Amino acid sequence: MNLNLRLVCAAVFAAVISSCSQPAEKTAIPRDEKIEKRVDEILRGMSLEEKIGQMTQLTVSAIADVEVLTEAGDSILRSHKIGSVLNTPGDIAQTPQTFDKFITQLNEISIETTTIPVLYGLDHIHGVSYVLGGTLFPQEINLAATFNREHARNMGKVTAYESRAANVPWTFSPTMDLGRNPEWPRMWESFGEDAYVNAQMAVAEVKGMQGGDPNHIGPYNIAACAKHFMGYGVPVTGQDRTPSSIAPAELREKHFEPFRQAMLAGALSLMVNSASNNGMPFHCNTELLTQWVKKDLNWDGMIVTDWADINNLHTRERVASSKKEAVKLAINAGIDMAMVPYDCQFAADLIQLVNDGEVPMSRIDDAVRRILRLKLRLGLFDTPNTHFDDYPDFGSEAHAKLAYEAALESEVLLKNDGILPLAKDTRILLTGPNAHSMRTLNGGWSYTWQGHGASKPEFTDKYNTIYEALNQKFENVSYVPGVEYHIDGTDWQFDEITSLDKAVAAASNVDVIIACVGENTYCETPGNDVDLNLSANQKALVKALAATGKPVVLVLNEGRPRIINDLEPLADAVVDVLLPGNHGGDALAALLCGEENFSGKLPFTYPKYTNKFAVYDYKPAENQATMEGAYNYDAVMDVQWPFGHGLSYTTFEYSNMTVSSSKFDSGDVLKVKVDVTNTGEVAGKESVLLFSSDLYASSTPDVRRLRGFEKVQLAPGETRTVEFSLPADDLAFVNYNGKWTLEEGDFILSCGGEEQNVKCTETKIWDTPNKD
Ligand code: BGC
Repeated sequence: MNLNLRLVCAAVFAAVISSCSQPAEKTAIPRDEKIEKRVDEILRGMSLEEKIGQMTQLTVSAIADVEVLTEAGDSILRSHKIGSVLNTPGDIAQTPQTFDKFITQLNEISIETTTIPVLYGLDHIHGVSYVLGGTLFPQEINLAATFNREHARNMGKVTAYESRAANVPWTFSPTMDLGRNPEWPRMWESFGEDAYVNAQMAVAEVKGMQGGDPNHIGPYNIAACAKHFMGYGVPVTGQDRTPSSIAPAELREKHFEPFRQAMLAGALSLMVNSASNNGMPFHCNTELLTQWVKKDLNWDGMIVTDWADINNLHTRERVASSKKEAVKLAINAGIDMAMVPYDCQFAADLIQLVNDGEVPMSRIDDAVRRILRLKLRLGLFDTPNTHFDDYPDFGSEAHAKLAYEAALESEVLLKNDGILPLAKDTRILLTGPNAHSMRTLNGGWSYTWQGHGASKPEFTDKYNTIYEALNQKFENVSYVPGVEYHIDGTDWQFDEITSLDKAVAAASNVDVIIACVGENTYCETPGNDVDLNLSANQKALVKALAATGKPVVLVLNEGRPRIINDLEPLADAVVDVLLPGNHGGDALAALLCGEENFSGKLPFTYPKYTNKFAVYDYKPAENQATMEGAYNYDAVMDVQWPFGHGLSYTTFEYSNMTVSSSKFDSGDVLKVKVDVTNTGEVAGKESVLLFSSDLYASSTPDVRRLRGFEKVQLAPGETRTVEFSLPADDLAFVNYNGKWTLEEGDFILSCGGEEQNVKCTETKIWDTPNKD
């Protein structure tokens, strides 16, 4: 072989070796090279205006009069080459056919002007919130109370199918903000206070929505949008869209975790928290948007703002002295699409910023690449529209059954002195403002943003209120509301006494009083409230009825825990149905009469006092016995009901807890087993919760953390062994310096009153941000 040939061979060999030895780039969502190639090709042919048009999202009312595209709207779409539209026409739910026709028209315009289909998004928060005739599930807080991932997966799947039936390929869901401040008016939109529950449920919902392959979202699936990135659920004031003050360690360890898991599970888009943390608005936080999400996770999905939140960097957050400066901050920080939502000033400003060199072209290309990739992953270039006739299961009985089953497992029996279940011939007085309302069963994001659409008979007449459902199970139900909400949707928090005396009089003829109290519907900022106590009128009603001496079953129907410490002692039983959706009344009736058994557990800590909120993973100093010496420095954790509390008509006993090894290091997987026996008379489901406690640590440890949950169904007398695989690295915490740390020392694993001591024998501190 001559020298030249040898050199060529060596070079080829080296190239082969290097291409073989080069590990494929690890991305959160595996790359599909065909899609990437197509993205590149499309991008190459686009002008700056077209690119920025793709980054612009308008609300439907900016271009249409209800569902009729206006001339001005048509011209805006064409001249600005708008890439995305959101919201329901007329701000109220529409038929799938109306959506199909409207979105098909938008696609025709978009494809004609840019060759690129439009990306239409709706807030399908608990099922298809905005599509008439579709299925509404319980809200996410209820799904969390089921402690059963299957319900979150089912909701995702049904939502996807029924969204596509309306030609909608994208939804702004799931919400995975940790609801750790019960004043916050969006607590019910999340899976409660715990990071692990939020992560597990969000992943199940994302998979249900998107199906198994995030690169190829089929015609029965849609793209999810994990929101609101992140820490939105703990505003210091409790009011929506006000600042939080989350320490860096807690931000990474708890608030980021559900997002990280959802993105690793393939969630294709992300929406940003409208507020600020420690002075930095999330919409211009380069470290979080670009470093944590896009670089550290190597996630190639798309980041969209929340409503008007680029402008808000100027008008509300005051970190930008003009709207144009706000655009620069947000886009340079990593925002890909702006939910503008009313006008195109964003587009004009961004074009100028690019031309002036204030926003690099590489940033624009990155954003547009992500938007095009999402549209390709959704198959929109090949099939821009999907049609109602191809979705025979839209609003089917089978879907309704799934929503009903989720509702059944989500209603929580908090107290029962033995009065429940009720015999079918019990004479019942049903009372309270929530007793005969489809609106309150559903909560916000139901037919309308604030949920008042659910009170329209033409939307919800075919479903049962609590009153209607009880009438189907019990022979003798009389109904006197006592207190009623104002009918108008805007003043949700006001109620008035309308028939209290009549209710008291009616009590003399009955065996039991069922008082349905709680909240009317609200959503976001309009849901801000200054007092978490149950309203004075509703308290007065329950107290007057309890004074009759008749037993009281208190039914709470609420999106956040209203304080009832003065009512709880008066009630013989308390059930929190939370926001169980259209089938929640039927579920409650079946549970109250004992045809079904309760199995829901609280996914949040129910506070007892308005000045004492708590979470289950509090610090030891929050619950301390009296200190020795002259002064008492105790601290008392006193809550109404703890996280995970929920009763059943049967009893469960835990025994024989074992752990595969009493010693562990990073990388080990502990196998935990526990026997659960149904020791009562009736069948029941039990959510088995596995907790860990790190006894001593270099940062003050949480008293306990949830590390696993499994739901089992047990016949009377039946025992099942429940197994958990617990990776030792899950027991790590983020230390004061922001590093994941698994520390040498003693831990306790506990499950249903059983405990095992285990020991970590070696400390490990990760240098990588995500323990990888
Ligand atoms: C909410 C988001 C929602 C968006 C679009 C905002 O006001 O915060 O959760 O997805 O509106 O409707």
